[in-house]
Amino acid sequence: MTTLALHPTFDRIVVEPHIAAARSRGRVCLLGAGPGDPELLTLRGLRRLREADAVVYDHLVAPETLELASEHAQRIYVGKQDSRHSMPQEAINALLVALARQGNVVVRLKGGDPFVFGRGGEEASHLARCGVPFEVVPGVTAASGAAASACIPLTHRDHAHACVFVTGHRRDGATDWARLARGDHTLVVYMGLSQLRGITAELLAHGMPADTPAAAIEAATTRRQCVVVASLATLADDVRGGSLKPPTIVIIGAVVALRRELLAAPQHDRAAALAD
Ligand code: SAH
Repeated sequence: MTTLALHPTFDRIVVEPHIAAARSRGRVCLLGAGPGDPELLTLRGLRRLREADAVVYDHLVAPETLELASEHAQRIYVGKQDSRHSMPQEAINALLVALARQGNVVVRLKGGDPFVFGRGGEEASHLARCGVPFEVVPGVTAASGAAASACIPLTHRDHAHACVFVTGHRRDGATDWARLARGDHTLVVYMGLSQLRGITAELLAHGMPADTPAAAIEAATTRRQCVVVASLATLADDVRGGSLKPPTIVIIGAVVALRRELLAAPQHDRAAALAD
């Protein structure tokens, strides 16, 4: 049995003996789990989960997705919703390297897509620096999942000719809101819930029209999904009134107004279809 001492919050991580075999095959797969609905996992992602000796996962991964992993795989949780209680990134990097060097097939399972605000880039860089073989398996990012399940096209020939993904939680606080307030793009804000009032105020102050359609989608693609549709001027109040919680994504732009038209059509009920 091997013990890894990585961080006081997580004590020691005990690596079970059955996964420390075959040193030469050690590798890491940075795997996108998709936005919540387990059916949005890719076929390659499913295959990698079934091959895994160890799955290192964070709070955005649905329990149903984790259940798809090999029953023999050790499951290692590295993050709570409150980021203050997450394992530090350096410790996660070290864990991935240590597990792979012990010969394990490691799946680093992340919500959405690993290369969209998922720190997958940092983990890939570290693995590359350490000479650990890795691959990246993409996942459906929250913007795509939310857009599809809330009936909001991200681009449209008549309404939006670009789509910008931006974090509402930049470490250095230096987002260029003036630039983002201009143009006919769709703006998708990840991790923007706690800063929403400030973000909408910045966009308004830099000239984005107050009546620009805007939506906030909580827990997109899951049974908990909740959509608040408003205008740029009212979004922060309406989201507060709706008591939305993380994970919530914000979509701002003319395309949001298409939702009403698209929802007027008869909706396909996936749950009912599955029950047939
Ligand atoms: N790598 C992920 C994003 C991680 S950042 C991806 O590609 O989707 C975390 C942020 O993603 C959350 O704060 C929220 O803004 C967004 N998010 C992730 N899953 C979501 C979901 N099911 N519904 C709404 N927003 C989601």
